[in-house]
Amino acid sequence: MLRQVEARLLEAVDDGEVLKLAREMVRIPSENPPGRVADMARYVLSFLEGLGVVARTVEPEPGRVNVLASLGSGSGRAGLVFNGHLDVVPAGPGWTVDPYGGMVQGGRLWGRGSADMKGGLAAILGAVAALVRAKVAFERPVALMFTCDEETGGKLGAGYLVRNGYVSGDMCVVCEPSGLRLIHAEGGLCWMTITTHGRSAHSVLAWRGVNAVEKMVQVLSALAPLQRELGAVRNASGKRVVLSANVIRGGVKVNQVPDACEALLDLRIPAGVDLSAEQVLDRIRAVLADLKMRDPELRVELSHGDPVTPFEVPPDAPVIGLVKEAYRDVTGQECAPWSPREDPPTDDSDLYHLWTAGGIPGVYFGPGEIEQAHVADEFVEIEQLRQAARIYALLAYRTCAKGGGVA
Ligand SMILES: [Zn+2]
Repeated sequence: MLRQVEARLLEAVDDGEVLKLAREMVRIPSENPPGRVADMARYVLSFLEGLGVVARTVEPEPGRVNVLASLGSGSGRAGLVFNGHLDVVPAGPGWTVDPYGGMVQGGRLWGRGSADMKGGLAAILGAVAALVRAKVAFERPVALMFTCDEETGGKLGAGYLVRNGYVSGDMCVVCEPSGLRLIHAEGGLCWMTITTHGRSAHSVLAWRGVNAVEKMVQVLSALAPLQRELGAVRNASGKRVVLSANVIRGGVKVNQVPDACEALLDLRIPAGVDLSAEQVLDRIRAVLADLKMRDPELRVELSHGDPVTPFEVPPDAPVIGLVKEAYRDVTGQECAPWSPREDPPTDDSDLYHLWTAGGIPGVYFGPGEIEQAHVADEFVEIEQLRQAARIYALLAYRTCAKGGGVA
């Protein structure tokens, strides 16, 4: 139930302002790669400063700018952290509207980042503006965290900020597009490269060479039983572990024995499966070691990116109940939970860093549909922007305001 003071706070949310923020941010391309987000950071910073909110930037590398701000006094542990990322994936082909035009049509805002996640950023900023206008006094800080590189793994953004102690808090809301449903689990992944090395030769003298492509065939065949075994591992709702060889490159000419070949493999572990990417890497290493023993000619290497381990924030974490209540009080409906039958939206997201490295329990909860992320003709429903801004404002009030009353 909304208290009177809360209803007044929600009236302070300005829908025109939220939409204007979202449009203006869509018009600032912040594609990653290459990852230049300085203009976006400046925009967010100047909006916050215009409200009188103290904000600052943290720039681990030139042009990789994160923005940090805090509502309420004190630099202590925040009662609530709002997170959003400033970068977007490149527009790519296939658009029928200008990806950076900020077009509004049919109750939707169109463009790259409208859903993922400049819409979410606008909802956070709109909520902050309402809290400031309503002159809410805070007992505990509400931390705002705008990161530079979520789309490329978050090492210089959320990962950097959490590991270096810039952000701490009791709970967080990662305002990624979730269609305003609650998501609190994430799958794991690891991208790997297997390289075989051979010896080049003219193919009329092929026996003098070592064929790296044929060696790769041997390697991938030897991995097939492990792929089948992993494919039989499922989470409670039937989603499988996947190890898929998706790219293969090798050879130069039809008449030349290739001296190198590489294969790129994608490992995905659904949320709720008790298996780490490291465990799978160990199994692959064992297969390769075994092959090498049987074939002294085989020269093969495995390299990989940072493994991401699947995780689930406990369903009884207070943040989950609080978001549900705020959703109900703003929309009059029940918030749909994440269902294990569905995919969590992203892997290797900021929530991963906040929870696994920072120990801050959190949820994904934001405007825009997951299916809209990273596609051509991306859009966000303007109604969801309105609702998100109100829900965020209410949540900040209830968790951190004087007299807000933590549930
Ligand atoms: Zn995103």
